[in-house]
Amino acid sequence: MDEINHNILYRPSLGDKKLALLLDPEKADLNALPLSSDSHPDFIFVGGSTGGDTTPFVRALREKLSIVNCQLSIILFPGSAAQFTPEADAILYLSLLSGDNPEYLVSQQIKSARRIHTSSVEVIPTAYILIDGGVETSTMRVTGTKPLNPSNAEGIQTIIDTSIAAELMGKQAIYLEAGSGAKTPVSPDIIREVRKNTSVTLIVGGGIRTPEAMQAAYSAGADIVVIGNHFESHPEDLNSFLTAKRSYSAAVLQCSGPTGEAGPSEQRSDDSRFMRLALQEAYKAQDAQEIPIGCVIVSDNRVIGRGHNLTETLADVTAHAEIQAITAASQTLGGKYLPDATLYVTVEPCPMCAGAIGWAQIKRIVYGAPDPKRGYQTYAPRAFHPKATVTSGILEEECRSLIQEFFKSKR
Ligand SMILES: [Zn+2]
Repeated sequence: MDEINHNILYRPSLGDKKLALLLDPEKADLNALPLSSDSHPDFIFVGGSTGGDTTPFVRALREKLSIVNCQLSIILFPGSAAQFTPEADAILYLSLLSGDNPEYLVSQQIKSARRIHTSSVEVIPTAYILIDGGVETSTMRVTGTKPLNPSNAEGIQTIIDTSIAAELMGKQAIYLEAGSGAKTPVSPDIIREVRKNTSVTLIVGGGIRTPEAMQAAYSAGADIVVIGNHFESHPEDLNSFLTAKRSYSAAVLQCSGPTGEAGPSEQRSDDSRFMRLALQEAYKAQDAQEIPIGCVIVSDNRVIGRGHNLTETLADVTAHAEIQAITAASQTLGGKYLPDATLYVTVEPCPMCAGAIGWAQIKRIVYGAPDPKRGYQTYAPRAFHPKATVTSGILEEECRSLIQEFFKSKR
């Protein structure tokens, strides 16, 4: 079970994108699935908007997977409490946040709670958010809810606010759904806005029919792309999607360059999660016309200080993101030294900030993009505490392009 937890609960690190195949037990033909040990998606989602107990289907699917020698996690994507089976590996414990129907917001969850609780199925609290994809879907009919409208500013703001609310409620994943058979998938612009404002695993599905559309969703910030309908009618296309996913990951990893100490993969996914929060700070700076650099300081898995660049706002050349975050963290802890903390910053610290990080005795520093022109490594390579360790290259591409776009727009 740990493996699923690890794979899906925490945001995959840069370039490590996932593809899920969605099977509706009422429609899927297991014999037509083009799965083999070297050609398969990362997960199989099982569920549909109608239908009952999925146990027979999950059993048959497991048998099929074992015949083709394919160890895949089977994750329930249930349309109702009745679809739960203790034989799945995990369940997206969905709450339909885009609608105001209490039945799908909370009642179905209560109906299935005890069975899920007494099973060994991994639970992934997930916000399910329907986005208008230009077609009435069976989910809309069954739940009696309307999707959110991505075509005007108010609708987009509601989508973002709903996603923020999801994270505040403690959801570990957000599922943006255009609906099965959608004319248009969730747009990269929407995905990007949700990504900017949240840090949990971002799942996107509905209406994605080409490898290019999948890549666009990945570059906009989706962690997991879900393909359902399309593979039901075109099972032979699976390979071209897998090839596109691999080439996307290879391209991103290549341009991110060397990544410092590798570290255990769990640490790297934690690093991505906190760097995402630092990026949220950087976006705040960008919105305020400041150089977009953000920073968070974490102790015991808890953010104790955050900050973004404020040099223009405060007319103060020392108002760098790291300085703001260090001041905030010291106030949180009530002491000037932060020896147990990790500092995450989107860009390599400058010599001034490296000095401050050293004075605060911070022992672990993680940054996104290097800064060969103004970074500490060129001017003050020994500024950190002697025992400090440094990890670089986390979400590097996004950290760098944020800065590059900023300076391009200033030229
Ligand atoms: Zn600085």
